[in-house]
Amino acid sequence: MSNLVHVEAQHDPAIAAEVDQLLARRTRDIRLKGEIMRLFRARIWSQTAKIIRAWMIWVALLDVLTLTVNMLILPTSIADRMLLPAGIIPPVAIAVVLLWRKPQAPWLQGSSLLAGMFLILLSVALVGVSAGGEFYERHLNIMLFVAITAIIIFGIPLAWTVITAGMALGLYLMFQLRNPAIDLGSTVAATLFFASGIFATVAARRIMTILAQKTFLFELRDQRRVAELAEANDRLEFLARTDPLTGIANRRWMTETLNKLWGTDTRCLDGAAMLMCDIDHFKKLNDHLGHAEGDRCLLDVARIIQDNIRRDCDLVARYGGEEFLVLLPGVNEAEAFSVGERIRTSVEAAAIPNPGSRVSRRLTLSIGVAVQTKDQVIAPEQLQRQADEALYLAKQSGRNRVTLHGSESDKSRPIRSVR
Ligand code: GH3
Ligand code: MG
Ligand code: MG
Repeated sequence: MSNLVHVEAQHDPAIAAEVDQLLARRTRDIRLKGEIMRLFRARIWSQTAKIIRAWMIWVALLDVLTLTVNMLILPTSIADRMLLPAGIIPPVAIAVVLLWRKPQAPWLQGSSLLAGMFLILLSVALVGVSAGGEFYERHLNIMLFVAITAIIIFGIPLAWTVITAGMALGLYLMFQLRNPAIDLGSTVAATLFFASGIFATVAARRIMTILAQKTFLFELRDQRRVAELAEANDRLEFLARTDPLTGIANRRWMTETLNKLWGTDTRCLDGAAMLMCDIDHFKKLNDHLGHAEGDRCLLDVARIIQDNIRRDCDLVARYGGEEFLVLLPGVNEAEAFSVGERIRTSVEAAAIPNPGSRVSRRLTLSIGVAVQTKDQVIAPEQLQRQADEALYLAKQSGRNRVTLHGSESDKSRPIRSVR
């Protein structure tokens, strides 16, 4: 749950700004509020709840243990008087443990804990008050000790801690005032003495909470920075693999893909084709219409090629100035040829002017096709070389055509060309 909360927080600029602002303050001035406070509580909840549950169980066990020992060693009349007040602790502690097993509404958590604490402290005090004599004051001191351990280790809101401290001192003062063994002056003096100790404990608890909050703020900031860095890396990685003019893959991306496919995916060895596409007389287009218009045509051609291949498994890369390499995994010769033909006719049909071309007044494309059949395993570089050779022949034989390279094992086979 806390991780999920963090992920949400990473993308909230308002939270990010507040985290930075809080961390810029002096540690003692750090005050969490609003959403960050909610996130902090969610983050520490399970640890706090675990500590509270463990403390409750510890107090209940200790209560049962001391009561048992008292029953054995104290006169029955005294031990009997302790029985009833001591019996309050185990059910109260168990009730708090049950309520603190899962996150509840804050008011329920707060009130259950404070009510539980009050009853436990009251119970400890009443054990002494009921037993009377030397036990009276001793148990009031034990009650303060119990309260102090809770104040120190419970990572709860400061207000709850202060209420716990107030309850302990209030009970102490109230019962000491009724203690027949000591006078008023000693009661006030002892209460002030313990109050200063409890005050110091609350102050220490507050510092521990602020330090925990600061650590949490660092954690939020670190997670945000790691996420930002990962995003920046992804962006850089994407830019490094993309052609800035056309937005399609560049040569590096194509090389990586070829290495990956040929290295791991055996589907490629089950037939794959490369289409080397080169715009005819592109230099003339630049010369007649200008370089900017040339750039626009490159964009059009990239889009047309993309529209004619499978987006999910084929890849087109701008391989050189006006050359595009298309990779078609898992296709046979006929399929590769027909894709090439579809690209060629689509470019022609787009009727992009190329007034200087000696082939046509429209922009045309020559395509060399090389296919790796199921029975062959050809290195991607070799397949590409074959596509280049086929392209060369397409240019030689008049341009605006698709030419298929014969397989390596069948040199005698004539190169097929379609226009
Ligand atoms: P062929 O039919 O033999 O392929 O002739 P061609 O003119 O297309 O071939 P050539 O390789 O001689 O010229 C390619 C031209 O592509 C040269 C260069 O001016 C142009 N070119 C390369 N990159 C870009 C680019 O990014 N933008 C523009 N506008 N032109 C480019
Ligand atoms: Mg070229
Ligand atoms: Mg060209």
